Amino acid sequence: MSLPVTRVPPAPSTGRPIGDAGTSAFAAGAGPERGLLDACVHCGFCLPTCPTYVLWGEEMDSPRGRILLMDLADRGELGLDATTVRHWDSCLGCMACVTSCPSGVQYDRLIEATRAQVEERFAREPADRRLRDAVFRVLPHHRRMTAVAAPLIPYRASGLQRALRRSGLYRRLPARVRRFEALAPVVTWAGVREQAPALTRPAGEPVLRVAMLTGCVQRALFGDVNAATARVLTAHGCEVRAPAAQACCGALELHAGRAATAAERARRLIAALDAPDVDRIVVNSAGCGSTLKEYGHLLADDPAWAERAATFAAKVADVHEVLAELEPPAGALRPLAMRLAYHDACHLAHAQGVRSEPRAVLARIPGLELAEIPDAAICCGSAGVYNLLQPDAASELGRMKADSVRRTAPDALAAANPGCLIQISANLGGGDPVPTFHPVELVDASLRGEDAAGLLARRAALVRSAGSPT
Ligand code: SF4
Ligand code: SF4
Repeated sequence: MSLPVTRVPPAPSTGRPIGDAGTSAFAAGAGPERGLLDACVHCGFCLPTCPTYVLWGEEMDSPRGRILLMDLADRGELGLDATTVRHWDSCLGCMACVTSCPSGVQYDRLIEATRAQVEERFAREPADRRLRDAVFRVLPHHRRMTAVAAPLIPYRASGLQRALRRSGLYRRLPARVRRFEALAPVVTWAGVREQAPALTRPAGEPVLRVAMLTGCVQRALFGDVNAATARVLTAHGCEVRAPAAQACCGALELHAGRAATAAERARRLIAALDAPDVDRIVVNSAGCGSTLKEYGHLLADDPAWAERAATFAAKVADVHEVLAELEPPAGALRPLAMRLAYHDACHLAHAQGVRSEPRAVLARIPGLELAEIPDAAICCGSAGVYNLLQPDAASELGRMKADSVRRTAPDALAAANPGCLIQISANLGGGDPVPTFHPVELVDASLRGEDAAGLLARRAALVRSAGSPT
């Protein structure tokens, strides 16, 4: 996977300054910070871990190239034209470059500020704008998401999906329609109907009181994972609050440059979840967790919320961080014999630095053998809404990830992010599917004494019933 590190090429000539030469293409005080831009020393250590550079070998589709474009735009030597914006749009926001950068460049802050400016100051093509608006009218709203996804259950269960995918008609569908269909998640009634109870108490005095984010996509499609999370935390001695009156955390919008909407969602979520006696805000979805941990930064300029947001963010923990701190009751975890490939979701490993905790939690399960996936740092191509907006690159990355996973010969795969589970499942289907799980589902299955073979067979049958996109 390693590619040679290339020298920094000359500045691209495709840009046209917005105003006079020397006038920043970004609004005063709103673009990427000059100090953060200057921190990049152009060494190129980040290039081999950047998925788009791995795919195309193009300097301007690498972290270093994108930072150079930001720098030139900030200096007024480049405008926000379609070519420049395309290089920023093609970034997955996976933050592998943050992990691999020896100079501590905060690429996350740079791309976030840049994307917010692009959404404010760049006129997108009408079709692109319409697609983005449609995506954000549905995904962050769990009821709308459920309404869109629920028909996928009879579509799959009736055999229609499998028949369509096998038919010649499927191959005649427009490529974009085929790519969207190929991503159709394997939705179940349990995923749609089950939810975490509003309050779950442990048998004795709680060791922690936690408030749980239920999310938007997670709540709409993986409600059973939320329910399992509440059971597992309770079994580890936590009192779990999962109020129904909570909504999307704003992660999808923040990563797409819609910062004002994300900030409003942050205020509402803080009000819904926080309370003086809550010890931790627990998140089981990697993309959401990394955003909640950044609420202090997101609301830093809002005097009414800055302090509260920083206090809230300090309490946020990924569910594996909390479980790794606690001990399950002696003998409660029963054997679950399987070889499990664990996938590091980018927003858990790169953005939050949470790598050892999920492995430690899974390794407690007797009989479960963990397998490490080659090229684990490379994103699977899900990246929030990236696989909807950039389907070609996303499907190529999805295929590469599936190949890497299969090389470990696993019985199953676990990942702690709904987007990764959908993306990787779509690429691990077919006649010999690898069943996928959220790690807490496996801890829950172990606590409930489920039979591993039956669990794997049921999940594989679900995937097989959808058929394989051709
Ligand atoms: S966030 Fe990911 S895709 Fe974007 S520049 Fe960094 S490594 Fe590349
Ligand atoms: S982002 Fe970091 S690793 Fe990449 S070129 Fe700049 S200084 Fe080097």
